[in-house]
Amino acid sequence: MGEDAIRLTGLTKTYRGSGRSPAKTALHGVDLAIPRGSVFGLLGPNGAGKSTLINILAGLVTKTSGKVEIWGFDQDRNPRQSRAAIGVMPQELNLDPFFTPRDALEVQAGLYGVPAAQRRSDEILAMIGLSDKAGAYARTLSGGMRRRLLLGKALVHRPHVLVLDEPTAGVDIELRQMLWENIRKLNARGMTIILTTHYLEEAEEMCDRIAIIDQGRKVAQDSTANLLGRLDMKTMVIQPVAPVAELPGADGIRASWRGDGAIALEYRTGQTTADDVLNMVRAAGIGIRDVKTEEPDLEDVFLSLTGSAARNAG
Ligand code: ADP
Ligand code: MG
Repeated sequence: MGEDAIRLTGLTKTYRGSGRSPAKTALHGVDLAIPRGSVFGLLGPNGAGKSTLINILAGLVTKTSGKVEIWGFDQDRNPRQSRAAIGVMPQELNLDPFFTPRDALEVQAGLYGVPAAQRRSDEILAMIGLSDKAGAYARTLSGGMRRRLLLGKALVHRPHVLVLDEPTAGVDIELRQMLWENIRKLNARGMTIILTTHYLEEAEEMCDRIAIIDQGRKVAQDSTANLLGRLDMKTMVIQPVAPVAELPGADGIRASWRGDGAIALEYRTGQTTADDVLNMVRAAGIGIRDVKTEEPDLEDVFLSLTGSAARNAG
């Protein structure tokens, strides 16, 4: 068995066209290795192929070619073992409206062949905060409760790998915090976590490693820290003592206005020091009342690699 939780080699998916819609290749030979124990972020703009990749892992979409190994098991040669190693919380809310949360967990456990004595529906219900709704019909649950139930269903067979497709898209802050907490706890107990997200701040906070895919191709894979470190851009924001009429400037320093007369100075730390920037400001006769610096964030990395802005809402 390898060291990786997931290993994809040359993974390709072409959706067959039907009627008027043409065939669409959603994944073009993606290679990806996800180490055991990590919280791994799969990022990319809308339509990049994230859900396709995850649905192939989940066995919901059939790949066109390539190799999928889950916890060392080849998905084609050892379908049962590879399926048992992974739990998936899908993007859509697909729950039977006439099942109670307890039923839903029990049925799911049955599907995965978990013997009755080894089921732990009560423990899972408590973890997802649905103990007091254990007997309520799913159709009476709020959207947030349904989402939590989907998380619970993904956990019934104690998978090594938990995959979450946009778990916090469109949920309120409280639920997002709860999901984050659960994810951290599960990871601390040794579960490998893979999540897709539109929220770059979420990836920055939660993920130790990140892959970015764009138009079905992997464009980057690295530790979150290294990805952020790739950009040596920094911004110094100066609050002048007195109003300034004209923006100062120098080679390698890009100046722009901020609100209330503040001046933003962008520079590359590889070429320019903070001292250079401050000297330039003083040389322009500008007194400095206050100064702060801003580091690049994942949004900048994302933009520089995909050329498209990440959607920040919904
Ligand atoms: P993401 O999750 O990154 O937004 P998807 O994997 O959902 O991306 O989609 C990738 C591409 O595949 C898109 O162009 C999408 O329209 C297409 N696609 C997804 N599902 C299907 C399908 N069932 N049939 C045809 N095309 C699909
Ligand atoms: Mg998707």
